[in-house]
Amino acid sequence: MMEVRTRFAPSPTGFMHVGNLRSAIFAYLIAKHYNGKFILRIEDTDQTRKVEGAIDFIYNTCNLCGLIPDEGPSNGGAYGPYIQSERLHLYQEYAHKLVEMGQAYYCFCTEERLEELRAKAEANKVPFLYDRHCKNLSKEEIEQKINNGEKYVIRQIMPKTGLSVYNDLVYGEMTFENKLLEDQILLKSDGYPTYNFANVIDDHLMDITHVIRGNEYLTSTPKYNHLYDAFGWEKPIYIHLPMVVDYDLKKLSKRHGAASFMDLYNNGYLPEAVVNYLSLLGWSPETTEEIFSLEELIKVFDPSRINKAPAVYDVKKLNWVNSHYIKKLSLDELVKITLPHLKETYDLSDKSNEWIRHLIEIYHNHISYGKEIVEVTDLFFKKDITLDEECLEFMNTGDSRKVVNSFYNHVKNITDWTIENIVDSINKTKEEAGVKGKNLYMPIRIMVSGQMHGPELPDTIYLLGRDAVTDRLSK
Ligand code: GLU
Repeated sequence: MMEVRTRFAPSPTGFMHVGNLRSAIFAYLIAKHYNGKFILRIEDTDQTRKVEGAIDFIYNTCNLCGLIPDEGPSNGGAYGPYIQSERLHLYQEYAHKLVEMGQAYYCFCTEERLEELRAKAEANKVPFLYDRHCKNLSKEEIEQKINNGEKYVIRQIMPKTGLSVYNDLVYGEMTFENKLLEDQILLKSDGYPTYNFANVIDDHLMDITHVIRGNEYLTSTPKYNHLYDAFGWEKPIYIHLPMVVDYDLKKLSKRHGAASFMDLYNNGYLPEAVVNYLSLLGWSPETTEEIFSLEELIKVFDPSRINKAPAVYDVKKLNWVNSHYIKKLSLDELVKITLPHLKETYDLSDKSNEWIRHLIEIYHNHISYGKEIVEVTDLFFKKDITLDEECLEFMNTGDSRKVVNSFYNHVKNITDWTIENIVDSINKTKEEAGVKGKNLYMPIRIMVSGQMHGPELPDTIYLLGRDAVTDRLSK
């Protein structure tokens, strides 16, 4: 079998969105599943949409996620260069080749003329298609115009009748009417290729066997296929991926807070977890298992199991997957993804390193991403806590008040503030108040933390410190 070659072909137009990253992951997994090559190609021919720094975001995101290209701008390869703006001569060469082959033509129409045609089409409420005004210019006319310095584009001659049919691995047979196809521009008057042209030339020249990308390209694919046909080239296998949508089924966009990978990363999501979660957006394994390392994904990733239904980007599920990976971190690793957020929000100047690490440690199993440390620990940094309905109700039942009074009396007399002595006070309270379990712990927890759930109670009390604890209990 031919070597499988897939590519991730982002345009450097902004932060790398999770939808884009999902395409990269699928392209990577398909290549690696078949022992093939994963190629990174930067599609930067639209210089007006280029965003400063976007290429670095692409490299960093791929590196952090372990999607290391076999060939690409950083490490080169036999098919380079891998940045489209460095390949302009190739697009020019191939566009002119198509003219020689009688499959494309020079078009000298001015912007004004095209504007007029567009306005006419709009007035008649028909879609605007170029009218082939320049299609039959003679060799002499063309030469003369070029000698006069007239600007031209190169347009491909598209079929005007019949149907374009192709097969997509996910969406099945796709059919389009040729009469809707315009003689597409391949090369612009400034010598730059159009996006659609460069994309096809490169996929062919780079021997790409499987084109994996978002489904917004399903309708452009017939145009691409006519290019392959015009050159007599073999077409790749198409794998269009379902759209990533929000809960309201609208396309996920930058509006959605953390929809860029770097935002997620900076909020303390782990790249392995993000990759794991995104791999499940539009794909599912044969089993019900949902936690996979990259290595495991490579093994089980079967592209025929990609589903065409829109994939909902579910933050709750992402958090669930991420918390799974957070639990496996060492304390040092956990500190690394949480401490910057604590520092940013709270004044830690009077806290020891040991105290901070201990605080982070007791929340190890309670947070699903690094930044969440801020909200769960706020009870350690605010002066007063307020009790909600549920807490108040609990405090007004059974022996809750008796428990709190008893505990207060024991805890305020502790001379050496240690966890052991705090546990001792809880035990004494247990005997004195004659209650145990929930009825013992809950009133104390509520009064010191303002919450009904949280990490280990003795640790919580220890870290709050005697002053804060006795102050809260006495209220
Ligand atoms: N450059 C395109 C994008 O960023 C990729 C299209 C493709 O993969 O063919 O959306």
